[in-house]
Amino acid sequence: MRPALLTPLFGSVRTLAGIGPKLAETLARLLAVGDGQEARVVDLLFHFPIGVIDRSRQPGVAGAAEGATVTLKVHVDRHAAPPKHNKRIPYRVFASDDTGEIALTFFHVHGDWLEKQLPIGSTRYVSGRVDWFNGRPNMIHPDFIVPEEDFASLPLVEPVYPMTEGLSRKTLAKAIADALAKLPALPEWDHPALLAERGWQSFGDALNRTHHPETAAEFEADAPFIARLAYDELLASQLALTLLREHQRRTAGRARIGDGALRARIRAALPFTLTASQDKALAEIAADLARPERMTRLLQGDVGSGKTVVALLAAANMVEAGGQVAFMAPTELLVRQHARTIQPLADAAGLHIAVLTGRERGAEREAILAGAADGSIDLVLGTHALFQSGVEFRDLALVVVDEQHRFGVHQRLALTSKGEATDVLVMTATPIPRTLVLTYYGDMDVSQLTEKPAGRRPIDTRALPLDRLDEVVERIRTAVADGAKAYWVCPLVAESEELDVSAAEERFKALDAALGPVVGLAHGQMKPAERDTVMARFLSGEIRVLVATTVVEVGVDVPDATIMVIEHAERFGLAQLHQLRGRVGRSDRPSVCLLLYKAPLGEVARSRLTIMRETEDGFRIAEEDLRLRGGGEILGTRQSGMPGFRIASLERHARLMELARDDAHDVVARDPNLVSGRGEALRVLLYLFGRDDAVRLLRAG
Ligand code: ADP
Ligand code: MG
Repeated sequence: MRPALLTPLFGSVRTLAGIGPKLAETLARLLAVGDGQEARVVDLLFHFPIGVIDRSRQPGVAGAAEGATVTLKVHVDRHAAPPKHNKRIPYRVFASDDTGEIALTFFHVHGDWLEKQLPIGSTRYVSGRVDWFNGRPNMIHPDFIVPEEDFASLPLVEPVYPMTEGLSRKTLAKAIADALAKLPALPEWDHPALLAERGWQSFGDALNRTHHPETAAEFEADAPFIARLAYDELLASQLALTLLREHQRRTAGRARIGDGALRARIRAALPFTLTASQDKALAEIAADLARPERMTRLLQGDVGSGKTVVALLAAANMVEAGGQVAFMAPTELLVRQHARTIQPLADAAGLHIAVLTGRERGAEREAILAGAADGSIDLVLGTHALFQSGVEFRDLALVVVDEQHRFGVHQRLALTSKGEATDVLVMTATPIPRTLVLTYYGDMDVSQLTEKPAGRRPIDTRALPLDRLDEVVERIRTAVADGAKAYWVCPLVAESEELDVSAAEERFKALDAALGPVVGLAHGQMKPAERDTVMARFLSGEIRVLVATTVVEVGVDVPDATIMVIEHAERFGLAQLHQLRGRVGRSDRPSVCLLLYKAPLGEVARSRLTIMRETEDGFRIAEEDLRLRGGGEILGTRQSGMPGFRIASLERHARLMELARDDAHDVVARDPNLVSGRGEALRVLLYLFGRDDAVRLLRAG
């Protein structure tokens, strides 16, 4: 149960004065709360400034630098109204101080309004951005104009928030102020000693200060009020993960030792030998399974490093020891692909497998459910449909989760609740830096696939402007005639997936017209069965060019595809580009990746494309990605820093993360059910930061 004192914060933003359905909708978009959901008061509180405008500088007219935001105390000298009927010429008001003259410039305004705001002969404070044209300073539409006596009403340090269309700064500032007024007095969940040592205020004061910074200089990541909030955010996540881990530990595991027979037969059926790091990962997994504790292991390996076969052999290990295995992938497409890879190997080894997704129905479904329940099926591959009620296993001993970042903590819990003492192997292609592993996975043990399978060739990566598209099409025509296969990826651009899909459909039509009936189309709005058909035709070679939206990003394996074209590459993040490129370069034939971009490129987009050309190393790319995204922004990490965190940032708060982790361990060791005074306060913290999944793990009473 959520503590009652938080109730006002978890109500809709419409409980705030002046927020009706329309504004609520705008705020839901701004705060990205998810489809059909309403933004809550707490979402507004956690909408942090990404910077501040400092209006405290008063350099005088002559000293106002190009582009600087300044406040000037000026004497209003004269008005220069535009000629009537010529709306393009602005209205100028000339004003001056001892150092020089400045033009205050207005487009489309009423002269009478300006005469009231800036009467000739008066003294005014004006604040805004200064631009110099032909050696003369201008302030276009000052942000503030106030009489001398109202100087105090000027917000000298004004927070700047991420915005959305149809929302004014003023409206947002008022909504946030009203949300802050709803903040109740909260119990203190941080250690008094830590607060004293760091000079931290209460959570409420820190939150208020973040929304109302007093100087621009203090608005830095190491300002105590921001550090406090970052710490609390990290503590909430570390505490949730520690509780999860503890919960798993409390339910003891079973030692499982296989005789190696199934594994030997699978290895014999493989057309290749395993890499050294695949072997090492398998040894680590076998050792985990043999211990009487539960396994929680992360298998990290770049795209194409061969995680699937490791998962299969881990599964075989478990089956040898008498247990069953569930192998879960995020999409139906990936489930079927895994099944295609695994089926022949399973057949050769005598391993009984089945696929269970939303698509298996009726008698077929019943048969699979029966086989899982009586233990005649060893390995079930599926989407999260696997974990709906009604699916029972005789002895579910291992759950393998592919591409984990799409599953949350509560899903991980649901997974293991189908068996007793179930071991978990999570696979991810995201080359997460060590510090982030801690953030996302808590104390998971990590195995890494560090090398690519032998015989792989580097991918020739090039960046080309979109106006050379015709050349690219010709190149693909030639390559296809020589038997090559190509992906052509169209980006997700618009907020609406329909628009993106229509862009992909257009591209499909154009390529189909240019290249003939060798082109196929796959996107996220197609029925899974249709999409599978297209993928199967691409795999078999009936289709040679696959136009796709980013559905090909995760995990698709068509080993003989050697060309990857990414249209509007400037719109993709680095990690995404790397994942996409990883779809090619999977055989001993040379591959190319063509990054088509729309010129001119922005600075960040240019850096991304350069890095893509320089390296194929997923870890380096992940680090550069963090660097590029983290650069220059102080807060607002929802856009820039660690995904899933709003305040804490990896670069600035790594040390706090370690502190939070130790703190969380300490709490859970002393007070595993959070029943002490501090424990109760920490429950409030978990709810506040939306980590309350973990509260359900606590024993009642
Ligand atoms: P990912 O780690 O991206 O999931 P996959 O498991 O899809 O990678 O493997 C990519 C491709 O590499 C598959 O075609 C797979 O059969 C092949 N593969 C896996 N291990 C090896 C190996 N040791 N040697 C050669 N090819 C391998
Ligand atoms: Mg994979």
